Amino acid sequence: MTVTHKLINQLIQLQELVVANMQKKAAMPNARLEELEKSIATLGSDLPQQVRSHFNRLLTKHPEAIVPISNEICAGCGMGLTKSLINSVHKAEQMHRCPNCARFLYYPEQLIERERTNRVYGEARKTGIGRFTSPELMMISLKGTTPEEVLGEMCNRMAEKGFVEDADHLLDLALQREAIVSTAVDNGLAFPHVRGVEGGGLSMVVGIHKKGVKFGGPGRTLSRIFFFMVIPTATSAFYLKLLSGLSRIFREKESREALQSAVTEEALWKALIKSTKKMIK
Ligand SMILES: [Zn+2]
Repeated sequence: MTVTHKLINQLIQLQELVVANMQKKAAMPNARLEELEKSIATLGSDLPQQVRSHFNRLLTKHPEAIVPISNEICAGCGMGLTKSLINSVHKAEQMHRCPNCARFLYYPEQLIERERTNRVYGEARKTGIGRFTSPELMMISLKGTTPEEVLGEMCNRMAEKGFVEDADHLLDLALQREAIVSTAVDNGLAFPHVRGVEGGGLSMVVGIHKKGVKFGGPGRTLSRIFFFMVIPTATSAFYLKLLSGLSRIFREKESREALQSAVTEEALWKALIKSTKKMIK
C-alpha cells in the first residue's frame, strides 16, 4: 500500500463519518453526537495540513469531498476524465483532484452495479416520492430479528425487482454503514442506506416491521419503519434534504400510523404518497 493509498483510505473513512454525522443531524436535529464528532476531529487531525484544509473547504460546498471515478467520469460532478488522469488516479502515486469540481478522486475497487435493464420506477408515477420508489418496493411485513436480517430482506427486494444486481454485496455495504453509527433515529424510524452507487437515480425501499426490531436506536427504542436508500454519489446533497423531509413528516404519530396500518403493499404505497405529498414535490 502506497502512502497515497493510505491517505485515500483515511479520507474515505473520514468522509463516511462526516456524512453519517450530517445524516444523523438531518434526521434528529437535536441529537448529541459527541462521539462521532470526536472521531471526525481525530481522524482529521492525522491528515497532512494541506489535504485537510482542502478537504474541509470542499465540504463547505458539497456533502462529499472525495468521490470515486465511475464509468470514466467524476462521480461528484459528472465531468468526463482523460485516460491519463484515470490511470494516474489508479496508480495512486499522488493525490489527484477533478479538474472541474476540485474534489479528490479515487479509483474504486468495486462499485455496486445498477441493473442495466432500463428500469422505469413504478407505473409512470414520476412526481413526489414516486420518483424514488415504486409500489414493488413497499414491504409491509419485515420479519428479521437482527439488523442483518432486516437489511437482508430489503436488499433482496431491491435485487429481485431489478434495482441493483448483487443483493449480498449491497447488504455488506449497508452493514458497514451501520457499523459507523446506527441509522436508527427516534420515533421508531431508521434510514439505512448505501452511498456511492454507480449510475441511476436514488431508490428507496419502505419496510414496515410490525413487532419492531432492535436496530441500535436511542435508548431501547425498537425500529418499525425503515427507509432503505441506495444513493448514487451525484444525489448525495439531495439525499440529505429528502432524509430531513421524511423525518419531519414521520415525526408525526398520525403519519407513522398511516404507514403501519397498511395491510397490503398497495395500501402502503398509497399511504406513503398521501403523507409525503405536501412536503416532497
Ligand atoms: Zn468533478
